[in-house]
Amino acid sequence: MTEIERHDYDVLVIGAGGAGLRAAIEARERGLRTAIVCKSLFGKAHTVMAEGGCAAAMGNANENDSWQVHFRDTMRGGKFLNNWRMAELHAQEAPDRVWELETYGALFDRTKDGRISQRHFGGHTYPRLAHVGDRTGLELLRTMQQRIVALQQDDFAETGDYEARLRVFAECTVTELLKDPAAGPDGAVAGALGYWRESGRLVVFSAPAVVLATGGIGKSFQVTSNSWEYTGDGHALALRAGADLVDMEFVQFHPTGMVWPPSVKGILVTEGVRGDGGVLKNSDGKRFMFDYVPDVFKGQYAQTEDEADRWYEDQENNRRTPDLLPRDEVARAINTEVKEGRGSPHGGVYLDIASRMKPEEIKRRLPSMYHQFKELADVDITAEPMEVGPTCHYVMGGIQVDPDSGQSRVPGLFAAGECAGGMHGSNRLGGNSLSDLLVFGRRAGLGAADYVVGLERRPAVRAEDVDAAAVLTLAPFDAPEDRADDTGRAENPYTLHAELQRMMNDLVGIIRTESEVADAQRRLGELRARVRQVFVEGHRQYNPGWHLALDLRNMLMVSEAVAASALLRTESRGGHTREDHPGLDPEWRHRVLVTRCARDGADGLETEQVVPRVVVEPAERVPMRADLLALFDLAELEKYYTDAELAEHPGRPA
Ligand code: FAD
Repeated sequence: MTEIERHDYDVLVIGAGGAGLRAAIEARERGLRTAIVCKSLFGKAHTVMAEGGCAAAMGNANENDSWQVHFRDTMRGGKFLNNWRMAELHAQEAPDRVWELETYGALFDRTKDGRISQRHFGGHTYPRLAHVGDRTGLELLRTMQQRIVALQQDDFAETGDYEARLRVFAECTVTELLKDPAAGPDGAVAGALGYWRESGRLVVFSAPAVVLATGGIGKSFQVTSNSWEYTGDGHALALRAGADLVDMEFVQFHPTGMVWPPSVKGILVTEGVRGDGGVLKNSDGKRFMFDYVPDVFKGQYAQTEDEADRWYEDQENNRRTPDLLPRDEVARAINTEVKEGRGSPHGGVYLDIASRMKPEEIKRRLPSMYHQFKELADVDITAEPMEVGPTCHYVMGGIQVDPDSGQSRVPGLFAAGECAGGMHGSNRLGGNSLSDLLVFGRRAGLGAADYVVGLERRPAVRAEDVDAAAVLTLAPFDAPEDRADDTGRAENPYTLHAELQRMMNDLVGIIRTESEVADAQRRLGELRARVRQVFVEGHRQYNPGWHLALDLRNMLMVSEAVAASALLRTESRGGHTREDHPGLDPEWRHRVLVTRCARDGADGLETEQVVPRVVVEPAERVPMRADLLALFDLAELEKYYTDAELAEHPGRPA
């Protein structure tokens, strides 16, 4: 093996979105030498694309808001599958994290009396999303980058080296985590191997703590709001290192993506449009969401258009519009309208803000949406409705972590942000991701720092593991006829990716059935065999075919986790709709589906290196603490919980 570039840090953060940057800031502020590695340019991440805002119960727009109300909304949105400790920490700490951003230099939009302005979003009882127009993520990420530069300037003043304690490795993709098997019974994380996208040269990072903050998995689906980086790398890296994933059946299809023209299908239309007054209509011009309020939310949403419209001005005396039901409900409603023939010409429905707000107000409040439609679809949203339909947007499932420290079951391996699981249960509320990544990014940085400080012996990277990871990373360049399992076939990564995306969209998408998901599993098995035969031409310098070939390994593992979990959960809840099991089943509420890598021999599966097999099994969820359970009315809980689970509720007669 040729000489490999090497770096040594205390904490390695993989991912430079909001979660990664917040974790890195925390670790560096605790005095640890910290590296940030990101697959794309520094500053280009999903976080920067977030439009609507960051949910935090600051009570600026309605003083009745509190962490308890935010906690309740989050649990309801997730249909009570959320890891309640994460939901509690998130609701309690989000306001401080937003304020902290202003101390870093962020400037949120203001109310007339100078407080941080907060807007309505689906599932939130009160206006709760701190925002900067419809470019909130940009401000969030820009501010954290600014904080990183400030820390680097401090280091320069002290050491003469800007990168003495905090360095960014941009356009560098991590392909494998490295462990030290001698560090404890299950081994411990020791670092990671990656490659520079531009040169294709390999690079090894030694670090006793690794924070995964790699974001989502959307690129496994054909219609998605996600950009090219979101191939489930962190999910797959964690699995291969021995960590568990939870809740992988729960994939969020955002109700409003662009549907036309085809080249932009899936691009997000922010929920802020509905939060600011936009309404959904079918081809008959009917505001159809009034027909889709499910039983569990009956009584909480307006029943007439008049009441819904009054609610925007007066939330105390009116109920909210069903246009702002949680995303899973709205996406399913749109799907039904289109299927039943009341859709728009290009297979969506209409989203109308033009008839509800003055053109200059639309341009002021939703500038990105105005430009997006004008430039990409030649539609003027101040004069005509938008055509919208569901798009794969977010994964609720992810790496199982300790809520307080962000540590996975692998010592030294931490995760935060979208790649971590549990916080959002079966469905995430809009705005709860930006606050999630701030709260848990900080906690993971802190957890990683505490872990490193407490180590008696630093785990070491082994030369043979580096060699093995390098061989796997370079395997797509090996001629198919030279491979051990030679079938003489050479597969093209782009073809396989297109097949995977189409299949996941059609068979494991917004509406699922047993036979379709089983079919998906069979096809995933075929794709796994074909991925071993992927061959890329050319050399290592900036070779996107090679990059995709490596991403495919991760997409396949993650897709198998989604499909296997979707097959097991025989109920419909949040981001998982089974046409053959349409209702909520209380017996499934207390179960979590856990995905792990198959163990050699022990699981009756033949394991393999390129795309290791995954196993999904149910486990019991930790029951909610009694004081948190008491925040809900018994009548509401009875819609979700079994009698046995509610035996201790204070509302139950003794
Ligand atoms: P990301 O911001 O996704 O960053 C992931 C990082 O990991 C990137 O730097 C990437 O390059 C890196 N990475 C990935 N794989 C590797 C690898 N193998 N090696 C090295 N680096 C790697 N949420 C809200 O709360 N409010 C909103 O208004 C909102 N609007 C949204 C609009 C859009 C269009 C989209 C797509 C999402 C929106 N979301 C919103 C969701 C939210 O933006 C994301 O869930 C969140 O930003 C994820 O943050 P993160 O830090 O976990 O990861």
